[in-house]
Amino acid sequence: MSDIIQLLPDHVANQIAAGEVVQRPASVVKELLENAIDAGATNIKLLLKDAGKTLIQVIDNGKGMSATDARMSFERHATSKIQKAEDLFNLCTKGFRGEALASIAAIAHVELKTKQKDEELGTCIKIEGSKVVAQEFISTSEGTSLAVKNLFYNIPARRNFLKSDTVETRHIIDEFQRVALAHANITFLLHHNNNEVYHLKGSNLRKRIVAVFGSKMNEKLVPIDETTDILKIEGFVAKPEFSKRKRGEQFFFVNDRFIKSSYLNHAVVNAFDGLLEHGAHPSYFLYLTVPTSSIDINIHPTKTEIKFDNEKALYAMLRATVKHSLGQYNVAPVLDFNRDSNLDTPYSFKSNGKAASVPKISVDPDFNPFKEEKQGEINFPYKREKNTQSWESLYTSVETVDKTPQENLFEHQEEAKAQKTFQIQRKYVLSSIKSGVVLINQSLAHQRVLYEQFLESITVKEANSQQLLFPVKIAFSSAEIEMIYTIKTELENAGFSFDEFTKDSVTIKGIPISVTESKITIILEELLNDIDLEVPNASFSHFDVMAKSFAKTLSIKTGTLLSEKEQEGLVNDLFSCKEPTISPFGKATFKTLTLHEIDNLFNS
Ligand code: ADP
Ligand code: MG
Repeated sequence: MSDIIQLLPDHVANQIAAGEVVQRPASVVKELLENAIDAGATNIKLLLKDAGKTLIQVIDNGKGMSATDARMSFERHATSKIQKAEDLFNLCTKGFRGEALASIAAIAHVELKTKQKDEELGTCIKIEGSKVVAQEFISTSEGTSLAVKNLFYNIPARRNFLKSDTVETRHIIDEFQRVALAHANITFLLHHNNNEVYHLKGSNLRKRIVAVFGSKMNEKLVPIDETTDILKIEGFVAKPEFSKRKRGEQFFFVNDRFIKSSYLNHAVVNAFDGLLEHGAHPSYFLYLTVPTSSIDINIHPTKTEIKFDNEKALYAMLRATVKHSLGQYNVAPVLDFNRDSNLDTPYSFKSNGKAASVPKISVDPDFNPFKEEKQGEINFPYKREKNTQSWESLYTSVETVDKTPQENLFEHQEEAKAQKTFQIQRKYVLSSIKSGVVLINQSLAHQRVLYEQFLESITVKEANSQQLLFPVKIAFSSAEIEMIYTIKTELENAGFSFDEFTKDSVTIKGIPISVTESKITIILEELLNDIDLEVPNASFSHFDVMAKSFAKTLSIKTGTLLSEKEQEGLVNDLFSCKEPTISPFGKATFKTLTLHEIDNLFNS
C-alpha cells in the first residue's frame, strides 16, 4: 500500500493555527498591542473600522524591524523573544510563541510598514492569505504600523460567526482596557470609524484607571500597597458600597499581564467579608509582581491563565492586604453620591415636581352602568352629556378587556366593576375572578406590561418621546459612550433623543414618555450592564434586551404601596398583554386559585 501521510503546506498549517490564536477581531487587537509594547513603544494608536471586521490597525513608535526581520516576522514560530526552552521560564515579554503574525496573515489582508531608528528607509510588506504580494522600501516614520484588513475574508464560516458590531466592539474595548491598564505610562489612542473613543495620556495608575472608567471612579478607589519577599501587590479596590451586580471591573495583572484567576478572585472577595451585599461583586485593579521564574504562563494558548508556584501563600497575602486596606479606609461611612435618591423614594411620591410613572388606569372605578341607565331615562340635556362620557368610558373598559386573551377570566364587565383588589405585603395584588382568585406579583406583572409597551414602541419605530425642558448632560466612561453610540438608533426608536456626544458625556434632550427625568442615568447604566451580560448570547437582539432592561429598571418594585386605582390599573394592563402569564424573564406573573382549590383547603 502506498504511503498516505504528508506534511501540511505552510498556509494550511497557518490557517489551522489561526483558529486557535484568532477567535475574533479582539484577539488580533490583543496580539498587535502586545507586540507594540514588546517593541518598547511609548505611544500606541489603535484604529478600527466596523468593529475591526474591516480594519484593525496598530501604529507604534517602538524599535521597528529590519527588512529581513519584517519578512521573517510572518513565518510560523518566528520570534525574537525566546531563543531556548529555558527562556520560557523567565519571560518578561508578552509574546513568545511567534505565531500571531503568521496566523493573522493567513486569514486577512495584512500591510506592514516598519522602520528602525537609524535607518533611512523602512519596509512595506503586503500579504494576503499567507502570500506575500508586495515588498518594497518606503519612507515611513520610526516604529511599526500593522494594518489587518478584511479579517476571515477567506474563511466565510468564521466571518459569519462574528457577532454584531456592538458585541465585537465590546470585546475589543475589553482587550484595549486590559492592555491600557497594565501600562499606565504608555500613551494610547483608540479610534473607531474615525471617532476618538480613548485618548489616554501616559500617566500614573490611578489617573489611568480614572481615564478609562470615567471621573466617577476617582472617589471609589482604595489604594493597596504591600511588598513581601515573594510578592509585591499594588493597585486599588473599589469601596464596598460601589460594588457591582456584574463582574465587570475586576482586573488582576501579574507582571503587567492581565490574567484571570478565580482563585485569587476568591481571596479578594473573601477580604470583603461581610461588607458586600448578597450577589454584589467588588471592583478591583490589582497588580502583582512576582519573580518570573515562579510562574508558568504557558498553560493556556491565549495566555490569560497562569500557574503560580506558591498559590496558597499568595492567596493568604492578597486577602490580608486587601482586608487591611479596607479596614483603614472604611472606618468612616462614606456618602454614596452615585446613588439616585429617587430610588429610595416610595413609588407613589412625587419627585422633581414630576409624578413617578404609575401603571395607567383604563377603568373608571366610579362608573356604574346601571345608575347611568336610570339617569338616561330622565333625559335632561346635561345628563345626556354625562351619559355620553360614561358610555365612552364603558367603551374604553370593554375595549381593554376585549384585547385580552384571558377575557373569560372575568365573567363580564359589571362583575369586574364590583370586584375588589387587595395588596398583600406590598408585593402581591389579589383580585377575584369568576372561578376564584388570582394572585399577581406586582413587580413581575408590571415588568410584563412595560416590556410589551417598550417592545411595541421600539419596533413600531414611532417614538413616544417627551422633550426635556433642559437637556441633561450625563457623564459616562468612553467605553460606555461608545456603546451608547452604537445603539443610538435603537435608543432613538425607543424615544430617546440626543444632542451632543463627547468622549465622556452625552447630552439628552428627549426621553421615552414612560421614563422620568430622574431615572435617565440609571436606565442607561442598567441597559449597558444588560448588554454587557448578553455578550455571550448568540440570539442577541438590541430591541429585546433594551425592552427587557427598561422594563426591569422602571417596573414598580416589591415594597411599593399601590393605591386601589393603581392595583386595578395594573390588573387591567396585565391582562391586556399578549403574554400576560410570564414576565419578560420567564417567571410566572400570577397564579390562580380556583374556588374548588379554596374549598379543598377547608375540606381536609
Ligand atoms: P511573538 O510576539 O510571539 O514573538 P509575533 O508573531 O507576534 O510573535 O511576532 C513575531 C516577531 O515580529 C516578534 O518576535 C518581533 O520580533 C516582531 N514584531 C512583531 N510586531 C512588532 C512590532 N510592532 N515592532 C517591532 N517588532 C515586531
Ligand atoms: Mg506577539
